[in-house]
Amino acid sequence: MSAPGSPAGSGPAGDGPAGKAAAGSGPAGGEPARAAYDPWAAILGRIDDAAALAGISADVHRMLRVPERVLEVAVPVRMDDGRVEVFTGWRVHHDTTRGPAKGGVRFHPGLNAPEVSALAADMTLKTAVVGIPFGGGKGGVRCDPSSLSSGELERLTRRYTFEVASMLGPDRDVPAPDVNTDERVMAWILDTIDMLHGGRSMPGVVTGKPLSVGGMRLHAGATASGVLRCVRAVFSELGIPLAGSRAVLQGFGKVGAPLAFLMSSGGMRLVAVGDAGGAVESAGGIDVGLLADHVRRAGTVAGFSGAHPLDPADLWSVPAEVAVPAALEGALDAPQALSLQAKVVVEAANGPTTPAGDSVLADRGVTVVPDILANAGGVTASYFEWAQGRQGYPWGEDLVASRLAGNMEEAFGGVWAKAASLGVSMRRAAGALALERVAEAMEVRGLFP
Ligand code: NAD
Repeated sequence: MSAPGSPAGSGPAGDGPAGKAAAGSGPAGGEPARAAYDPWAAILGRIDDAAALAGISADVHRMLRVPERVLEVAVPVRMDDGRVEVFTGWRVHHDTTRGPAKGGVRFHPGLNAPEVSALAADMTLKTAVVGIPFGGGKGGVRCDPSSLSSGELERLTRRYTFEVASMLGPDRDVPAPDVNTDERVMAWILDTIDMLHGGRSMPGVVTGKPLSVGGMRLHAGATASGVLRCVRAVFSELGIPLAGSRAVLQGFGKVGAPLAFLMSSGGMRLVAVGDAGGAVESAGGIDVGLLADHVRRAGTVAGFSGAHPLDPADLWSVPAEVAVPAALEGALDAPQALSLQAKVVVEAANGPTTPAGDSVLADRGVTVVPDILANAGGVTASYFEWAQGRQGYPWGEDLVASRLAGNMEEAFGGVWAKAASLGVSMRRAAGALALERVAEAMEVRGLFP
């Protein structure tokens, strides 16, 4: 099932994930932090480090340096003006030893194969760190959804789903929303898969779907609530009071916006926010409700009259106790890490800190709660939604909330303790903990045939 350009037969295993970024398909935005960022090299570095720390066998390590399967597909779509546009899409399973692949579907003009593979590998580590029975997957289509009509977006989603359908299924691979996709997109994926199976109902095939087709009420805010739980936990370990503390936030989307509300209702002050359209700051704290109203109207935080305009390049140098990247990967490179004022970074986004940025943060004594722990509330809620779909019995909100809180607290405690016992950063400890769990599963299953 490997796509053209997959690692099979393309040199030493682990040298590169399937496919290379097509010309001109580099990370979107073109901002300096992302320009030279190689997400696959970054995740391989993390896997190598975690493998050494955890002392896993060379065989297991070698298997984890290559995605299990990668599918690259052409996605032809009839546009509203009658012509056919051809997009490129991917679905990647990095590792499914611990359970079905789990990972979002991303629609973004800068998406490329190495990025999808890196995000899939991240999911292998994340599901293991929070101890849920899934492996790591990811997918998406290189497109700019803001330039597509609703009809075009639906046709693109359905054709993409059809093209990667052989990889999906409740026991095989369970997609969820990611950047620029939402419950509407999940409903189209669900419906397309059901239709491909003769109308058989399979609610466990996607998570993050609308309530009316088996979704879960607390799913939408689960990532943000897990991030806040990590902010509380790390502040408590470091002796920083939550009330009155200042936060800088990058990204005001499905994760960033609810997180801003949660932080503000927890007594924190949001002093600066940036998104793809610009940034704003207010030392006294930004009124999140008014900002959300503005973003609904304007599509960006830029131009919000309740705060001062801020050059996005200066976002990280705004004084704060915590900085939360909740946009895209590669946002905190060495220059941003050098300018960062906060003493704590909680990574709501996937892969927001580059290896160079990470080493600057470590040298400067900044505590980083890594993505595979900090944003794992979303995949944990997805696991609950998937379990409910399979049981055919919805859980009450209280049960979902208390289990989510319990899982996140236990995962945070485990990583904090591992970091202390190994004398390493939380990122390195989380990686080691994850690989120990994946390696144990691989060892007990053995190698087929
Ligand atoms: P989203 O599309 O809803 O929002 C993305 C936000 O990032 C928007 O505010 C956008 O303006 C901003 N952004 C995009 N490009 C930017 C740039 N160049 N500079 C500054 N800001 C930029 O996406 P989301 O679902 O909120 O996901 C955000 C991050 O969190 C991603 O890394 C995603 O993988 C990760 N994540 C999401 C979930 C989830 O439940 N949605 C779960 C775990 C991790």
